[in-house]
Amino acid sequence: MKIFLLSILAVFTLFTAQAQKIYLHCGSLIDGKSNDVQTQVTLVIEGNKIVGIEKGFAKPGASDKLIDLSKKTVMPGLIDMHVHLEGETSKDQALQRFTSNEADLAFRSTVYAKKTLMAGFTTVRDLGGSGVNISLRNAVAAGLVVGPRIITAGKSIATTGGHADPTNGYRKDLMGDPGPKEGVINSPEEARQAVRQRYKDGSDMIKITATGGVLSLAKDGSGPQFTEEELKAIVETAKDYGMHTAAHAHGAEGMKRAVLAGITTIEHGTLMTDEIMTLMKQKGTYHVPTISAGMFAAQQAKVMGYYHPLVVPKALAIGSQIKETFAKSYKAGVKIAFGTDAGVYPHGENGKEFTYMVEAGMPAMEAIKSATSVNASILGMSDKIGTIEIGMLADIVATDENPLKNIKTMESVSFVMKDGVVYK
Ligand SMILES: [Zn+2]
Repeated sequence: MKIFLLSILAVFTLFTAQAQKIYLHCGSLIDGKSNDVQTQVTLVIEGNKIVGIEKGFAKPGASDKLIDLSKKTVMPGLIDMHVHLEGETSKDQALQRFTSNEADLAFRSTVYAKKTLMAGFTTVRDLGGSGVNISLRNAVAAGLVVGPRIITAGKSIATTGGHADPTNGYRKDLMGDPGPKEGVINSPEEARQAVRQRYKDGSDMIKITATGGVLSLAKDGSGPQFTEEELKAIVETAKDYGMHTAAHAHGAEGMKRAVLAGITTIEHGTLMTDEIMTLMKQKGTYHVPTISAGMFAAQQAKVMGYYHPLVVPKALAIGSQIKETFAKSYKAGVKIAFGTDAGVYPHGENGKEFTYMVEAGMPAMEAIKSATSVNASILGMSDKIGTIEIGMLADIVATDENPLKNIKTMESVSFVMKDGVVYK
């Protein structure tokens, strides 16, 4: 009998320990979905989920924990659709390709991942690296490394000599002959093989470089680099494997081909024409502006010796154009997905993108929704992240000021919770 009672008590203790809840008293609440700001709301968190939303400041139970955000504006954890967690801009970045081993990339990526989370970004889409980003995703998911939830492309797919051909700019004897396995393709058959290889490697989605790029050691930054047939093969095969697709694109022709092939998101979109905007609206394609990267590259191009001489004119021409293009595409009604290209500028400064978007004419609330519910739907995760609703994962951030009045407050997020755990 005694043992029976003790075990009942043990079960009861275990039960009450599990039932400990966190009460968040929110001064203002932006839920990621509606345009209304609620005031004086309590969010109740149990485990990694939001289990209650109550009007007013509800009193926690004796064993519960209270977090006072009554002076802050609370919103869903932010989502950045374009980061590169394996690397970060520096003067010797080109040289680092020859001196860094995968382990070096891995150690550095843990630092960048933490900075990203501390900036309020609880989920990111990593659009290309060596494949270390797949291991990083796994390490974060296993709780071994502090960082955002990662949806990763693994290694980007390019064509020979194209942006993201990993041996661009190498000495001839070092170039080798990278193929579909390394993410370099030259036919629809190889395109399919490269997509299947990414799936096998553990990528969540597919990134391609539809046109030339600014930071690759090649002259052209905007010409098309895939044929229509290759693009079609990539998009179709990705769909077969349940993966969505993202295309880096600066020039119009490559961008148009990618949109027509059914790509999910256009990254940068620098030289987007009216015709392409119309096509994107018809096909439901998203524009991921990455204004931050453009601004940073244009600024650094003026610093003597920061970039390789082949990069400088491209950074000057393309970098400054991105913000203007975003202003046009937003006004035209193209769907906008928040994304920054972190790594091209220093990690952790992702919040600056909000300021640029607002400067270019997007209302603050729209920019916040773009970084929350809109991005969650592209990732097929609307039932888990991107809004503050009962049953959603407890990814919650807060700012000291009201971002609708001062958008710059998004650059210094002061509270971060991911999966019900407080990190800041
Ligand atoms: Zn990028």
